[in-house]
Amino acid sequence: MPTLVMKFGGTSVANLDRIRRAAKRVGVEVAKGYDVIVIVSAMSGKTNELVGWVDETSPLYDAREYDAVVSSGENVTAGLMALTLQEMDIPARSWQGWQVPLKTNSAHSQARIEEIPTHNINTKFGEGMKVAVVAGFQGISPEGRITTLGRGGSDTTAVAFAAAFDAERCDIYTDVDGVYTTDPRICAKARKLDRIAFEEMLELASLGAKVLQTRSVELAMRYNVKLRVLSSFEEQSDEAGTLVCDEEEIMESNVVAGVAYSRDEVQMTLRSVADRPGVAATIFGTLSNAGVNVDMIVQDISEEGRTNMTFSLPADQVSRAEKAMASIKGTEINYQNLVTDTEVAKVSVVGIGMRSQSGVAAKMFKVLSNEGINIKVITTSEIKISVLVDRKYMELAVQALHDAFDLDKAA
Ligand code: ADP
Ligand code: ASP
Ligand code: MG
Repeated sequence: MPTLVMKFGGTSVANLDRIRRAAKRVGVEVAKGYDVIVIVSAMSGKTNELVGWVDETSPLYDAREYDAVVSSGENVTAGLMALTLQEMDIPARSWQGWQVPLKTNSAHSQARIEEIPTHNINTKFGEGMKVAVVAGFQGISPEGRITTLGRGGSDTTAVAFAAAFDAERCDIYTDVDGVYTTDPRICAKARKLDRIAFEEMLELASLGAKVLQTRSVELAMRYNVKLRVLSSFEEQSDEAGTLVCDEEEIMESNVVAGVAYSRDEVQMTLRSVADRPGVAATIFGTLSNAGVNVDMIVQDISEEGRTNMTFSLPADQVSRAEKAMASIKGTEINYQNLVTDTEVAKVSVVGIGMRSQSGVAAKMFKVLSNEGINIKVITTSEIKISVLVDRKYMELAVQALHDAFDLDKAA
């Protein structure tokens, strides 16, 4: 039988009615003759609630216990989805990550999938099961402990299953009807794309467009999974949604394909750091050992042997970073003080066209300056430009850039 993977995100399984609606969509595919693997998220808001409980109990928590708690939301929806399908006379069974077993490494709260043996689930398909409902976001470490794959990780579970089971397609059902030029929730002119290149999607995701988890796009690219994003709230045809595909499969595209933003950024500045060889290595080595993922970095011009070192990091790693920096305060780094600015956001423009067209950065900076938005930090790569700005200007920046690069119009 051909296999299809269908993933339903939090809002698509937010209550029993929505689970029933999703189950009906699954029923349509079963009727077409597919063996279906359904990946479910926790009900919307559930994972946030669980994370909140962990933070409140233990701010510098043990990541193994964090995973034990936050993985639980998916267990509930997996069981409920299987029951709903059974009520519709569709033979279904639920699977938690460890039962598959979805094997990961031991990087708790950010684990990577290492292997998905297909034997257990295939045996059940062979015995007449039509739908395997798998709890997304979770796996099991070599030590036998529950792991999670990072926020939004059910997307990655879905793509990894599609690759392991050689599925015909991986459909990601969510609360928007596809991938847009920017988040339609903050820009009314955002335009739905019929297709987007893997590389552009990868950048948009890693720069904050949470419609797909970054790792899921990486896996789809590597294993050539046919990946589609579509709405669980509308009747769907086979052409619905957005197909994430190779660059060659897209006829026309804008220089800038999309604008992404990330609200969860924090800027830290170490003031008056000794400017000597090895200082950056100590600072960023210490942060890395503390599990902090530094993103943007700028070092000021040094004066009288001292400089300022500014960097950005994800908001949920601030306590860890502060603790790490405190641990080197008295060493040869000998900085004066640490300033943390939590009111910043990152805004990025992304497009494969930037490889061959210059002037995008200049235009971006001009647009922001016309709006009176000050740029705090800049980083660029071949197909993206990111800036850090005051958070209060984030939406304005996204909208102004969307307008300036004519993203509301197709190429
Ligand atoms: P799910 O719970 O289904 O996994 P998410 O909330 O993780 O859904 O992702 C869907 C959300 O991603 C949308 O509601 C939208 O606000 C946001 N989003 C951000 N950028 C984009 C974009 N470029 N295109 C579509 N949605 C986007
Ligand atoms: N429930 C998890 C989260 O909210 C995983 C997911 O939905 O993809 O991050
Ligand atoms: Mg998601």
